[in-house]
Amino acid sequence: MILAPGATIGILGAGQLGRMLAMAAARLGLRSHVFAPETEAPAFDVASAKTIAAYEDETALAAFAEAVDVITYEFENVPTPCVDFLSTFQPVRPGARALSLTQDRLTEKSFLNDLGLRTAPFMAVEDAGGLVRAVGSLGRPSILKTRRFGYDGKGQALIREGSNLSALHRGLGGAPTILEGFINFEREVSVIAARGLDGAFAAFDICENEHERHILAQTRVPAAIAPATAAAAVSIARQILEALDYVGVLAVEMFVTREADGLEGLVINELAPRVHNSGHWTIDGAQTSQFEQHIRAIVGWPLGATTRRGRIEMHNIIGEEAAGWREVLSQPDLSLHLYGKMEVRPGRKMGHVTRILPESGSGSGGGGSGPV
Ligand code: AMP
Repeated sequence: MILAPGATIGILGAGQLGRMLAMAAARLGLRSHVFAPETEAPAFDVASAKTIAAYEDETALAAFAEAVDVITYEFENVPTPCVDFLSTFQPVRPGARALSLTQDRLTEKSFLNDLGLRTAPFMAVEDAGGLVRAVGSLGRPSILKTRRFGYDGKGQALIREGSNLSALHRGLGGAPTILEGFINFEREVSVIAARGLDGAFAAFDICENEHERHILAQTRVPAAIAPATAAAAVSIARQILEALDYVGVLAVEMFVTREADGLEGLVINELAPRVHNSGHWTIDGAQTSQFEQHIRAIVGWPLGATTRRGRIEMHNIIGEEAAGWREVLSQPDLSLHLYGKMEVRPGRKMGHVTRILPESGSGSGGGGSGPV
């Protein structure tokens, strides 16, 4: 079903991603109705309607579904029963399968390996004894992660020589976990790609990401990787989108390694079945933003061109850094984005800043791969 301007998009989740989705929808003459349990949240300020209710509240969900024409989500921890229930009323894009698969690191990694794609070696860990066996097999350093609900490094523990395994396992609260072998990477990159309702595919140029204390601090585009590596990263994303019969934007986070033959290798770390922080640069730096791309896909419109407008640096404004907004405004080459969060907390993403520099000839170069 292809929607027309004036249609209403239902968005589950009301954070900054929902806010930027709603703003992109408004630019295209579409309305947004945001559903979330919080009473105050960034996306509510810019949506034409809101429902404040629990994701388990079927009466509220049914009324929300009746009021919208298509449903999407801005974060991957929406409970799957909520999406299954909504799917009986309206299309949910991307669908329940992408959501449930990416909510669990074990099913996600198994899915990727089944496609022949490379991840860190991993083992499911049920208890402290299982951890001892997994460390025996994967070695140290290795990383213990909760299978579900981990983000920005939460629910993770690095296992080194001398680490007390049972204490680390207890520290993660007894939740199901996996142990991952440690990847000695040169850099971290992400591919932001989209698939339309008609099966068309488009990817933005590869983003290079730097984290500080597990939170994304900076993204640079293009990533300083070989053109062949960039092309391989895009084809990995395409393979994933097609395997999932996906509609919308998906992010693939990858590690770039240096292999024994001297060439770069790619190891997939994680999938995000949604728009992604490392794609925020596309608002100022690409012909079509990731948010507009996602909206176009889910309403059945053609995907937009992903052409990049120069070399890009995106910096996240975290916690107290938000106090520096005036200084950002005084610099003519910076674009400021603030998410309208009233309360500043350490580690909280308050906004981001984008800088566009003249193209220099280094890196993977690009212009994105337009819809095909
Ligand atoms: P994640 O929550 O899985 O995205 O992990 C957060 C960060 O921890 C990543 O961005 C990496 O910097 C690091 N990390 C995660 N998994 C591994 C791994 N298997 N090997 C090395 N570093 C990792």
